[in-house]
This record gives sequence, structure tokens and C-alpha cells, in this order.
Amino acid sequence: MNKSDSERIASFLEKLNYKEASNEEEADLIVVNMCSVRQSAVDRVYGLARKFSKIKEKSPNFKSVLTGCYSKKDFKKFKKIFDFILPIKTLPKWEDFLKKESFYFEIDQRDKNFNKKFNLFYLKEKPKYSKNFSVFVPISSGCDNFCSFCIVPFVRGPLICRDFFEILKEVKEAVKNGAKEIWLLGQNVNDYQFEGKDFAGLIEQINKIEGNFWIRFTSPHPKNFSQKLIETIAKCEKVTPYLNLPLQSGDDETLKRMRRGYTAAEYLDLVRRIRMAFKKYRKGLEREVAISTDIIVGFPGETKKQFEKTLKIFKKIKFDMAYIAKYSPRPHTLAEKMENNVEREEKEKRYKVLTEILRKIALERNKKFVGEEVEVLVEKEKDGFLFGKSRHYKTVKFEGKPQFVGKILKVKIIEALPWGLKGCLTK
Ligand code: SF4
Repeated sequence: MNKSDSERIASFLEKLNYKEASNEEEADLIVVNMCSVRQSAVDRVYGLARKFSKIKEKSPNFKSVLTGCYSKKDFKKFKKIFDFILPIKTLPKWEDFLKKESFYFEIDQRDKNFNKKFNLFYLKEKPKYSKNFSVFVPISSGCDNFCSFCIVPFVRGPLICRDFFEILKEVKEAVKNGAKEIWLLGQNVNDYQFEGKDFAGLIEQINKIEGNFWIRFTSPHPKNFSQKLIETIAKCEKVTPYLNLPLQSGDDETLKRMRRGYTAAEYLDLVRRIRMAFKKYRKGLEREVAISTDIIVGFPGETKKQFEKTLKIFKKIKFDMAYIAKYSPRPHTLAEKMENNVEREEKEKRYKVLTEILRKIALERNKKFVGEEVEVLVEKEKDGFLFGKSRHYKTVKFEGKPQFVGKILKVKIIEALPWGLKGCLTK
């Protein structure tokens, strides 16, 4: 989401006659679009203080802007580092703000009046896509779920859904300009609602847009994943057979403390229904949907036995990929007030155990592609090799020329690795 917002900030600044600087030292203005989901990212922003004061010594007119997701707790300290702190939703007003010497827009992101006034109007700004062939299209912002570990509802505000027709217009235009992959973005895409239209309805309409492009989305919540949505994604052929479905824990007690709103059994059943639907409506390799997940290890109070339940479900489901995080407390959240009682070493241990299991399972899953021909959207070239993602969201490496970047190519898979595939171009 932040990447997508940065694309809008870039086009907005160009309209104000700013040009991209070749390096930070030459910049008159630096905009930091921060993420607070992990403390490490916040610490990196604190680390910019010295850099900014050095640039200021050389260029007294230099200005810095902080936007994105920052907590109220950090606001005061960031005022000492940045000349401006501006919520992303206020982007249409930045021209006025940037005329000032400095300005700090202090706001509670959940403030009703603020959200009514600014809504998601900043998304009307035409983005300067960093890759025209793979495009992020935000469909909503914020979240009302308040999972106990998550800072998002506090720094992104309540769930606000974007105009259905505005989304369709952006997708159509992107496809017309050569987009091969559309990423629909939201903190919780399956909660999308706009004037009686839901996420399944949105996907159906996007799937009808003419052109050779893929539809991907991130992230859905297992809690509100309706049967209608399952059938829709399985039936719509442009939707790729890949899904990131955050589990977070395989233990019911932990899930309850995380306020996730589902049990391990419900999650298992959801995966079963999704897999069944793809088997029913798709052909060939597409009948097998790739599923990745997000896991937190060492959540407050997570016992060894509870962690073992995560291992169990992990082995049962056989995820294609998992993004494993070691729990760290985030400001304002409920979990911050819980005793962070799993030792750092224990978290590290659980992380390693899970990663090792994932490595084996992912390799096993990837072996199914050996000998098969898959479509790959090429993302980059390095030293004579092309790297891209298959429809199952597997990283594929193969020999090829730089002019293929941004194209969908047919590649025969010759080797499976735990974190990707190797192949060769088919003639
Ligand atoms: Fe955070 Fe996702 Fe939970 Fe919303 S649903 S609070 S974004 S983890």
C-alpha cells in the first residue's frame, strides 16, 4: 500500500514541478513514506535524523516530509527530525502545506471529521507507476478489525472503500497502457463494500475487462471469506491461482488472544473449500491453487504446546510459502499491554523450526512444476538471467534478454528449489 501511495506522491510532486533527484544529497525535498508495522522500519526512520542535518548543512533550503503510517507515540519525536508531517490522505492539500516553512498535521487517524473531509480523495491522483507492466490499484484503506498485535487500524484509520467505478477506470487505463498484472490492494480486501457492491462483484467486473492480464490481490482475511468469493476467484480465469491467506497461529487460544475471529478448524475448512473450487473450475496446473500465509511466532503467552499446533496445521496444509514474523509489540495495540513473555531466543528457535519445515514443504510443492510449461511475467534482468513470477507466484529464473522485461513468456521448468524454480524459454 505504501509503495502505491508513493507512486501518487511522485506524480503529485511532478505536477508541482519537482523533478526526481539523482541522489539524496542533491534533493531539495525528501518525502519519507513510512510503515510502522514493524519496529525495525520505524527505527530506520529515526536513523535519518543525522543524514537530514548533514544535507541541511550543505543546502539550507532542503525540506523533509514524513507521511504514511506513523503512530501518535512517535509523532513528537519525528517533529524534531522532519520539517513537515502530513497524513497521506491530505495529499490534495500538500501544495498549500509545502509553501509553509514547516507544518505538522496532527490528527487521530480514526477521527470521523478528518476521514469525512479527506476520505480517499487522494487516490484520484493519477499514479506514476514504478512498473507499467505490474500495477498496484488500491481498493480500500484502513481496517476496523483491531487484531490485538496490529497497529494498522491506528495508523491507517478506519476501513474506507474506494469508489467502485474509479477502481474500474484505473484498471482499464492501466491495461490499455500495457499492464500485465493488476494487484488489488487493501488491508482487508474481502471487506470491500461500495454502494451494495462487494469484492466478488469487483473481481467479476475486472475479469470482464478485455486484455491479456492477470488479477492478484492482497490481503484477504480468513474471517469474512465468503463462499461467493471462493467461487468467484476460482471461476474468473484472470485471477491467478495464488492466494495469501494470513493464518497467524494454528492454536485457538492464541488466535483468540490475537482477536482474529476464526479457529484453526475454520481456517482448515476454508482452505479445503478454496482448493476444491479451483479443482472444480480450473484446468491443468491451475487446478492446484498455491497458498501462502503469514505467521507470528512468540506472541505473548504462546506456549511450546501452542506453537506445536501451528507446526501441525502448517504440515497439514502444506503452504507454498509463509512470511514468518517474530512477535514485537506495537504501540496502542492490545497485545502491547500483554506480557511479552516469550524469550527472544525462544522466538528465534520457533522461527527457525518453522522456516525449516517450510523449506521442505515448499520444495515438495515446487517439484510439481518440473517438466511443465508455465507463464512467467518477467520482472527484471541480471547478468543474462531473467527473473519473474509465474501465475502461481513462484519466482522463476531463466536465461533471456533484457527486452523481455514486462512480458509474459512461456517457460519450461527444469529444476525446483525451495524458494523458486529454474527454467528455460520455450520456442
Ligand atoms: Fe491488522 Fe490485518 Fe488485523 Fe486489520 S485484519 S487489524 S490490517 S492484521
